Amino acid sequence: MSEQKTNNDIHWLTGQFRDWSDELKYRGSIEKRVRLETRLALIVVAVIFALFGITDYNLLGLTREYYLLLAMRITVVSSCLALAFIIGRWGGFAKSVWLHALPLWIVATGIVLIVPLRPESLLTQVTAIVVAIMAFYLLIPNLLTVSALASLFLSISFITAAVVFAGITLVGTITIGLLIIVANIVGYTALLRIEILQRKQFALLCEEREQNQHLQKEIAHRQSLEDQLRMAAELDALTGVDSRGHFMKRAKALLQRSSYEKAPFSLFMIDVDHFKRVNDTWGHTYGDRILTRIVDACQQSLRPNDIIGRFGGEEFVVGLPCTDEEAAQAIAKRIKDSVAAIELEGEMSNQRLSVTIGVAVASPDEDLDSVIMRADDKLYIGKREGRNRVVV
Ligand code: GH3
Ligand code: MG
Ligand code: MG
Repeated sequence: MSEQKTNNDIHWLTGQFRDWSDELKYRGSIEKRVRLETRLALIVVAVIFALFGITDYNLLGLTREYYLLLAMRITVVSSCLALAFIIGRWGGFAKSVWLHALPLWIVATGIVLIVPLRPESLLTQVTAIVVAIMAFYLLIPNLLTVSALASLFLSISFITAAVVFAGITLVGTITIGLLIIVANIVGYTALLRIEILQRKQFALLCEEREQNQHLQKEIAHRQSLEDQLRMAAELDALTGVDSRGHFMKRAKALLQRSSYEKAPFSLFMIDVDHFKRVNDTWGHTYGDRILTRIVDACQQSLRPNDIIGRFGGEEFVVGLPCTDEEAAQAIAKRIKDSVAAIELEGEMSNQRLSVTIGVAVASPDEDLDSVIMRADDKLYIGKREGRNRVVV
């Protein structure tokens, strides 16, 4: 709901949203506050209504009219208190508008009934009526339509009772009538402005919430894109091992740490033997599948702290922290053997795969490129010597 839309969406006469679902949403949002305020207002009304019993006694003494008024006041006061309790539990403008209207009609009836029983105090009652009209509009929380209808009932029946029971003159009737009309107009316009302002505020709040949700979604989307980008940059798409760049970063850190801790660090360069033949004979797709199986076999032979990356094509590089020459040789042999043990399916089932591995152990303060170069040299020695071997 934008602000422009909000202005057109609120009815200028009732102060309610034209859209019923918007109106229900708004009413639902104020339900808790309305219950509390209504309860408080009804208790205050009950107390004031009861206190006016004192003036009844002063005016009437212990007469029949006094007892009738007392009975009426007790009925109104107890109804107000009962309704305060009921509305506190089950009230709400969304579902039980009539429940909120009830106290207004009971109080209005009570006020009007005072006229025939105490006709001589009409002037005081006119003041009370004006105050009651204001209270209907502004103190007892209600929808504008509900307040206006109850106030209209109070105004018309009061003037009727004044004419019938207090016998006021035509001029008196017009004067009181004008006063009551003015009170109604003031109350109506004040409540209308409040109703419109509150709904506008609600609409803005909803809009803000919507925008926040949208923003949060956008952030989550970007986060996931970022994760995907990072994955794409850090991992090799075919085999799932580290990309060359990411491997280099991790290996550099591991080598640095080993040098700092004076622990040995070893590195393997692994190259699949005669891989071109696999591609040429069974196709690239099959070659891809073989490559992932070789990587699986390598990974199974490594330890949790070892890292493996794709150096390019069918060449892989492994970094082994805290690993001396003897241990490195054993692990390299394990890799070579597990690749050789890979069982191939179909036409290739009588073929064996093999890898050649060059091993280098980092000397103190040697940098990563130099270690890689030495492992590469060993790898080429292995290739020259007939492949399917580990060269340290
Ligand atoms: P050797 O290393 O034993 O000397 O022989 P080779 O046949 O493995 O050597 P060479 O480096 O000449 O060939 C490597 C082949 O690996 C060439 C290329 O087609 C293939 N290759 C590189 N990357 C991929 C890939 O991602 N998928 C597939 N299917 N083949 C690849
Ligand atoms: Mg090769
Ligand atoms: Mg190669």
